[in-house]
Amino acid sequence: MKSALITGVTGQDGAYLAQLLLTKGYHVHGLVRRSASADVVDTRLKWLGIADKITLHDGNLTDITSLIRIMQSVKPDEIYNLGAQSFVKSSWQQPILTGQVTGIGAANMLEAARIVAPGARFYQASTSEMFGLIQAERQSETTPFYPRSPYGVAKLYGHWMTVNYRESFNMHASSGILFNHESPLRGIEFVTRKITNGVARIKLGLEETLALGNMDAKRDWGHARDYVEAMWLMLQQETPDDYVIATGQTTSVRDFCKLAFEYAGLNMEDHIVIDPAYFRPAEVEVLLGEPAKANKKLGWKASTTLEELVREMVDADLDRVRQGLRL
Ligand code: NDP
Ligand code: GDP
Repeated sequence: MKSALITGVTGQDGAYLAQLLLTKGYHVHGLVRRSASADVVDTRLKWLGIADKITLHDGNLTDITSLIRIMQSVKPDEIYNLGAQSFVKSSWQQPILTGQVTGIGAANMLEAARIVAPGARFYQASTSEMFGLIQAERQSETTPFYPRSPYGVAKLYGHWMTVNYRESFNMHASSGILFNHESPLRGIEFVTRKITNGVARIKLGLEETLALGNMDAKRDWGHARDYVEAMWLMLQQETPDDYVIATGQTTSVRDFCKLAFEYAGLNMEDHIVIDPAYFRPAEVEVLLGEPAKANKKLGWKASTTLEELVREMVDADLDRVRQGLRL
């Protein structure tokens, strides 16, 4: 039985990845940071019905001693570093913490693996935010980076450390440059989930309006369930490498909104208000990925359409709001 260690197991991707690895027969271990609200930490794992099938370990990405200790006990065959301060907007409020968790945290994981588990295969959760102010119409593995937020800068450090540890120490370390991916388990502060949750609350009469920022921003949105499959595929390759994972289509926040409101039988114009508080100091106006390398080498392709994603998210939020559940 292979064993896998996932950091960020309580987040959106960690939950779906844990589910995928369980179906493949892995012993799944997750790193969890200590919280005073321990009862809500594993809400996503419970939502997927897998909370009791995973072994959780108390640790923190900023404390390399905890990472070493956990790797010594788990002896992982595969390590997935998904833990991060992952919300772009917060990274201007907490730039140093974002650097410590999202950037140095990745270095801590690589260094712990180099010391304790050098033969383990390593996945780093890199991001299309590294392209930021885009230098090519479609962004691929060879497009130059230009991050636009402390989050993007921290992730770029983690990305290059992964490449460097592969080249310096011959580690099987791969970096997945994933474009935005969403699901019913997406954090509520991200725009897609904010919209589908808002639609559900308006539809059920709990709110009248939904306040948003830049409606013209465009993202290449896929489904998280499809994207965790790509992470696993990267670690099954004989040689480690970097891959762009995207749908190859871009959609504006406005059009995402329109799809969600229309699906619920609502007119978006009656409910959206623009609040400058949601604008960002520096914006990533458009992202559009070129997933040809992943298509060819991993045999991976996004299988969920945007319309299917929107429907699944709106339905899940309608259910949750009706039942008074929070996630
Ligand atoms: P989430 O924000 O849902 O999850 C982040 C996870 O990191 C949570 O489990 C969180 O724990 C954990 N974490 C935060 N700080 C620490 C810390 N100091 N020590 C240990 N764990 C910590 O992110 P996603 O699941 O959406 O994304 C997974 C990864 O992929 C992230 O690294 C993200 O930056 C990256 N990414 C995501 C994309 C997307 O569109 N979703 C796109 C490209 C990259 P807790 O539950 O306690 O907060
Ligand atoms: P990001 O791509 O990782 O920053 O993901 P988000 O979902 O947080 O933001 C995607 C885009 O939506 C960005 O360009 C935001 O500026 C834009 N956006 C517009 N209104 C909002 C809002 O109310 N909340 C968030 N999170 N983003 C918004």
